[in-house]
Amino acid sequence: MKEKTHPNYFKTTVTCACGSKFETGSTRKDLKVEVCSQCHPFYTGSRQRIVDTGGRVDKFKKKYGLK
Ligand SMILES: [Zn+2]
Repeated sequence: MKEKTHPNYFKTTVTCACGSKFETGSTRKDLKVEVCSQCHPFYTGSRQRIVDTGGRVDKFKKKYGLK
């Protein structure tokens, strides 16, 4: 197997579904993502959301008798 020493590597503008754009390196010219560091729950107060979701899941489980 030959090593690919020079893959096509561009500086790419990534467009997120939230409207945020940022540059990165990629083998693709145009990238679209659904989440980025601007809107991903992990970066935007995930702790509170997880607590909230946990409560809802708990209620859901009780409602439907799931353990
Ligand atoms: Zn985003």
